[in-house]
Amino acid sequence: MRQRFDPMAESEDERHWRSQLIHEGLLFPQVHAEYERYSELAGRPRGLRDLQGERLAAVLRHALDSVPAYRRTGITADDTVDPWQLLSAFPTVRKAELAEGMVDHCDDAIDPTTCRVLETSGTSGVPLRMVRHNDALVHEWATALVRNQRQGKAFDRKVLMPCLTRMDRWGEFTSPGTGFTRVAQFGLAGCGASDHATFAERARGFRPEVLAGTPRSLVDFMELLRSHGGPLPGVRSVVTCGELLVPGAREALAEFFGRPVTDMYAMKEVGTIAVQCEAGSYHVESERLWLEIVDDDGVPLPEGRTGEIVITDLINRAMPLIRYRTGDFGSLASAPCGCGLPHKVMDLVEGRNPGELRRPDGTVLPVLWAARAVRRHPVRRYQIVQEADFSVTVLVAPAPSFTAADSAELTRNLEDVLGSSDSGIRCRVRTVGDGGFHDAGRRKDVDFVSFLTGASRLSSRA
Ligand SMILES: [Zn+2]
Repeated sequence: MRQRFDPMAESEDERHWRSQLIHEGLLFPQVHAEYERYSELAGRPRGLRDLQGERLAAVLRHALDSVPAYRRTGITADDTVDPWQLLSAFPTVRKAELAEGMVDHCDDAIDPTTCRVLETSGTSGVPLRMVRHNDALVHEWATALVRNQRQGKAFDRKVLMPCLTRMDRWGEFTSPGTGFTRVAQFGLAGCGASDHATFAERARGFRPEVLAGTPRSLVDFMELLRSHGGPLPGVRSVVTCGELLVPGAREALAEFFGRPVTDMYAMKEVGTIAVQCEAGSYHVESERLWLEIVDDDGVPLPEGRTGEIVITDLINRAMPLIRYRTGDFGSLASAPCGCGLPHKVMDLVEGRNPGELRRPDGTVLPVLWAARAVRRHPVRRYQIVQEADFSVTVLVAPAPSFTAADSAELTRNLEDVLGSSDSGIRCRVRTVGDGGFHDAGRRKDVDFVSFLTGASRLSSRA
C-alpha cells in the first residue's frame, strides 16, 4: 500500500486537490467574516441594491484603469456617473474573445499568489483559462454558507457526490471553503457487480445529509440503491448541477429520496449563478453577480423577455468578467418571489431552441434538449440530424480532448433526454471532419437538420 502524505507519490489530480483544500483553509477566516456580513444583509432589498451599485462602480473603474482590453475602449468615468449607465457603455465579450485575449483581460498588477487559475474545457470546445481572485472565491463560498444556513444545513454536514463518470473508486475529503463539509465521492467506471454492492454499502455507512451531482449521476445512484437495499435514510437535501434537469428526472429523484430537488445554475468562470429556493424559483447570486438579458445584437431586453444571459462579476478583479455572453438563454422576472428573498429571479431556458424533433406518434421534443447534451462535450462543431425514419444522428467535429468515452456518454445522455425507450427515437453519434456536415449554403453553421417529410429542412444558429 502506498504511503500517505508523500507528495511525490501522489497523482497530479491528488496534488491539485490537496492544494485546493489548503487554499480553502487559508481563506476560511475571510469566508467566515463575509458570511457574517452577508447574514446581516439578508432580507434587506435596499441594502442589496446599494451593495451592487458600489461593487459595480468599483469593478468597472478598476477595469478602465488597470485592464488593457478596457483601457483601450476610451470609456471614461467620473465619480458621479451612474454605474449601470456606465456598464451599458461596455462591450459584451464572448468566450472565444476571452480565450484568445486572456492576458489583455487580466489586471496589469495581477499577483499570482492571490489568484486561482481555472481551466474550462468548455462545452464549445474553446479552452479558457479563467483567473479568479481569492476575493471572488471568498464571496462565492460566503454566500453559499448563508444559503445553506437559511436552508437549515449544518456547516459540517456530510455530502455525497455519487457515480462520477470518470472515477473508479471511493474518496473522501473535508472542504473548508464550504464550511468544513465532509465530502465523499465515488464512481463506478469499469467496476463490476460486486463493486456496485460494496459502493452502495459504503454510501449507506457514510450517512450523507446531502446528495449532490449532475442529474445523470444522481439517477445512476438511485438505480444503484434500488438494486442494493433501497433509499438512504437521513438524506435532507438533493442538489443537482451541471446539466439540464429534465422534469422526469426531477420527479423520479424527489420520489425516491423523499426530498424535493434543488437545482443550481453555475459555470466555472463565475461559480454559482442561481439556486432554487423552496418555492422553486432560481434566485441570482446578486451580491456577486449582475445579470442582463440581451438579444442577438447584444441589446438589453426588458424583464420578462427571453434572450441570452449576460453576466458581470462584481468581485473578480484579477480578470474582470464584464458583460460576458454565456451562450445560455433565459429571462429575468419582474416580480419578486413569494419566498421573500430580495434576489432577482431568473427563468433558465437552457439555450436557443433551433427546432423540434418529432416522435413517430406525432408529438414533438425541443431540439435544444439534445443540443444541451452535446454542448457538454468537447466538440468544435455539431449538427443534430433527424433522419427520415425518425432516428437522430448527431454529427460532431471533435475537439482534441474528445474520447470514445465522450461518444458513449453522449449517446446515453441523448437516449435519456429524448426518452428513446418510450419515444422510439434511436440515437447515434458520428464524428466527422469539417466537410462532413450538411450544408445550408449559407455562411452560418447549421445546428439542426431534419429529413422528415414536411419538416423544415434547415435551421441555422443565429
Ligand atoms: Zn424564492
